Amino acid sequence: MKGLLNKLYNENHLTREELIYLLDNLGEKDKEKLHELAYNTTIKTYGNKIYIRGLLEFTNYCKNNCKYCGLRRDNKKVERYRLSEEEIFSALEEGDRLGYKTFVLQGGEDPYYTDEILVKIVQDIRDRYKDVAITLSIGERSKESYEKLYMAGADRFLLRHETATAEMYERLHPGMSQQNRIECLYNLKKIGYQVGAGFIVGLPGENKETLADNLLFLKRLEPAMIGIGPFISHPDTPLGQCKNGSVETTLIMISLTRLLLPKALIPATTALNTLSSEGLEKGILAGANVVMLNLSPPEARKKYEIYKNKEITDIHQLKKIEERAKKVNFYVDMGRGDYIDFNGGIKYV
Ligand code: SAM
Ligand code: SF4
Repeated sequence: MKGLLNKLYNENHLTREELIYLLDNLGEKDKEKLHELAYNTTIKTYGNKIYIRGLLEFTNYCKNNCKYCGLRRDNKKVERYRLSEEEIFSALEEGDRLGYKTFVLQGGEDPYYTDEILVKIVQDIRDRYKDVAITLSIGERSKESYEKLYMAGADRFLLRHETATAEMYERLHPGMSQQNRIECLYNLKKIGYQVGAGFIVGLPGENKETLADNLLFLKRLEPAMIGIGPFISHPDTPLGQCKNGSVETTLIMISLTRLLLPKALIPATTALNTLSSEGLEKGILAGANVVMLNLSPPEARKKYEIYKNKEITDIHQLKKIEERAKKVNFYVDMGRGDYIDFNGGIKYV
């Protein structure tokens, strides 16, 4: 085990067999070592800084039916909303006033948002805030649509691959195709976005092979950002009776990801913070270096219920984040927090 951990730390690579062996045989002391190596790697790559993002959940309409998600189209109990342009800009204004330099616009796959409407929103944001990073997290679209949004001023795109196991992907995403999702990720990369992928830990049917395949998928794709969070069941979904993902496994996945991809920006996710009151601290100690704070208007937050009892830290609670990060020797960084190999945002023509 010591040899495998050293190899991972020094070479940032393990084979599928080695990863599965590691997951099968990781003892308590090994886990401590794994987290320590990951934490040191973050510091070596980015310093002991936690980057802050402002997350605006602008629509909870969704045409998809992902079996784990509370926003799925068949969940008729959700009160649906779309923020008006005024609401979007008043939220961003507050974020800007507080010094936020990354805005993440997230939503369900809402057909109301044609390219024309979205391009206009992105352009307006870019016009007002020249130096902020604009991140989109709005699901699968055509390559042309991603291109238009990039040219309008978007810099980053979060699209988790959710699970690398084909059978599991098809089972949990009725009417969707894994091939298309992967194609979207490669299209986004080709266009020039800083791309975020990632997966859910603890989906029903998961095993060590699934976890290893998720890590190897990320290693191949080499995204700039990687979101890994535990599954949390939502009673009004087909997975309402399934048990939640494990915090411990999530932390192990964060550490392995940090060691396989030292340059990745890895959030301590909201889901991790929901299942553990010390999710942020544990996440940092395992190799995370990003946190997203909520920018959405209070009425919208409650309705953006991906899962129950979501732990929401909003943009005004930066002090709290500062204090918590300090406990694990990390400091809040309010900069854009770009990927280390970022080309400065030179748009292709
Ligand atoms: N609709 C876009 C998409 O799916 O890419 C963005 C919004 S979606 C709500 C953001 C992420 O929430 C998904 O990528 C998924 O990993 C996560 N998610 C949804 N339901 C979840 C649950 N019950 N537990 C944990 N994560 C969940
Ligand atoms: Fe829609 Fe995203 Fe939820 Fe799937 S995960 S139902 S695409 S909001």
